[in-house]
Amino acid sequence: MNEHFADIFTKTACPSQDQLLAYVKGELSAEERHEVELHLQDCDLCSEAVEGLTAISQKDQIPGWLRQAKYNVLQKLRKKTRRRRKSESYLYIAIVTLVVIFLLLAFYWIFHFGTAK
Ligand SMILES: [Zn+2]
Repeated sequence: MNEHFADIFTKTACPSQDQLLAYVKGELSAEERHEVELHLQDCDLCSEAVEGLTAISQKDQIPGWLRQAKYNVLQKLRKKTRRRRKSESYLYIAIVTLVVIFLLLAFYWIFHFGTAK
């Protein structure tokens, strides 16, 4: 049983999983692709593996564009918060300016009343 199992592998010379993955992703050269396709015709093990890898690589692509969409949303949000932070700092500057003017006026009035006496 074990020997027979080993025989299948040596006789058919299955491509490695990396090669199959490259085949699924279309990263192989025309020659390599042809070799893999020939092999897939008489190897159930590899054609099943390719089916599984196709499903996996398609699954991988979904979080890819989801991540992209998420990234776009996050960037929009970041721009909004940056804008809000900017207007918050303007408000802060305005309050500080008003407080300084008020203090100057207060000092002026204190000084004025002080010299008037
Ligand atoms: Zn095979």
